[in-house]
Amino acid sequence: MTDFDYDLFVIGGGSGGVRAARVAAATGARVGLAEDSRMGGTCVIRGCVPKKLMVFASAYREGFADARAYGWDLTEGAFDWAQFSGQLHAELDRLEGVYRRLLDGSGVVVHDQRARLRDPHTVALADGRTITAKHILIATGGRPVRPDLPNADLGMVSDDIFAMKTLPRAMLIVGGGYIACEFAGILNGLGVEVTQFYRGAQILRGFDDEARDLIATQMREKGVDLRLGTDVVAMAPSADGAIAVRGSDGSDRSYDAVLFATGRAPNTRDLGLEALAVALGRHGEIVVDQFSQTNVPSVFAIGDVTNRVTLTPVAIREAMAFVETVFKGNPTPVDHALIPSAVFTQPEFGTVGLSEEAARAQEPVEIYATSFRPMQSAFAGRADRVMMKLVVSQATRKVLGCHIVAPNAGEMIQLAGIAIKMGATKEDFDRTVAVHPTMSEELVTMKTPVRMA
Ligand code: NDP
Repeated sequence: MTDFDYDLFVIGGGSGGVRAARVAAATGARVGLAEDSRMGGTCVIRGCVPKKLMVFASAYREGFADARAYGWDLTEGAFDWAQFSGQLHAELDRLEGVYRRLLDGSGVVVHDQRARLRDPHTVALADGRTITAKHILIATGGRPVRPDLPNADLGMVSDDIFAMKTLPRAMLIVGGGYIACEFAGILNGLGVEVTQFYRGAQILRGFDDEARDLIATQMREKGVDLRLGTDVVAMAPSADGAIAVRGSDGSDRSYDAVLFATGRAPNTRDLGLEALAVALGRHGEIVVDQFSQTNVPSVFAIGDVTNRVTLTPVAIREAMAFVETVFKGNPTPVDHALIPSAVFTQPEFGTVGLSEEAARAQEPVEIYATSFRPMQSAFAGRADRVMMKLVVSQATRKVLGCHIVAPNAGEMIQLAGIAIKMGATKEDFDRTVAVHPTMSEELVTMKTPVRMA
């Protein structure tokens, strides 16, 4: 018997918040959810989903060229951004509708407005109402950040890409992480002249070095003007409506658009967290324990706002573990080990476990690696190369890391991830029969280490 309006109130209708709300409601809990933007959050509305559709759109250019090499008589037409964009937004509207129907069908009460915490069991809605709940779950995600630079607001962030009315002719992308590299490939594929500035020595910091090098090489071969060790020094509006940019490499030129893909920050502002003394970390993230519980016992947080591993499927896992712990009486810590993931660069990158560099720092390893021109694009005369790599513990023989740069590497790493999560050894890979002819068969046919380290 409680006096609360809800058993659970969720703030944020993205992947994590929606999943937690639905699954908690299925246990019989009374659940409310507040979202002040579109239902579905970053992943569905301005992230993974529209991005992947743009990857598909952009890949057709090479597809047309390949088709001709395979004997098809076809004339390449122009890419119509307006047509694609219309269809993209119709698809996002459809998906948002699906999310809403799922919530309605689960009995979750949706409040389309902003919510702030007022006390450990109360939220205030923007319309002035207050709502009480036994548990409050914060799943407010993150947002892109611009660098602290005069005129930085002339540049776009990733949210703005999907709302562009026309495609720029020439574009500067700043950053070397997931978003910068993915959009460099997408926009290049769509016919935009792309320059990419990355301040460090190589893109995709933190990933396996050999994979990073191969991706950078191929991005350049496909047309991205990637400039390493380069940052924006100054930017200003230019007379023709473009943006004049001075680079630290001494370059001075104007671009029709600049995209800052310089990282994301947790959405913890103006949520009432400080007044409640909810502990925040150095980057403004909500600090939680392994059960996603904050230092205020009735307040939990999941997903990007906690800045643990900022990936949709991880937020969903955190949501499931939260419901298991709080509503099913089964304390379930979130398992953040060996998460397979993909970067939808062109070429695509699938990765799980330790990079060669991280593994070497940990223990003696054997490295199995191969790089080759895959059959499909080689036939079409393309120079693309594929890389498959296994990082193996010398002591336990376990595969500590797997890194794949190849078309559809994301699909491959999902499956390799199962074996590696199960603790597969190199010998387990070896005794698996190859599927022929495929690219991924190389994962089970690499006999001799390329190096011991
Ligand atoms: P990342 O943290 O991956 O990359 C940010 C990039 O911006 C880095 O290269 C960083 O450089 C650079 N940078 C940061 N600050 C500045 C600055 N002031 N000036 C110049 N450069 C700067 O962030 P993203 O925004 O690309 O992506 C955010 C997260 O979203 C990812 O970490 C990932 O978790 C998730 N994501 C996942 C995707 C997927 O699964 N495929 C796709 C897209 C996003 P440096 O390396 O030197 O710090």
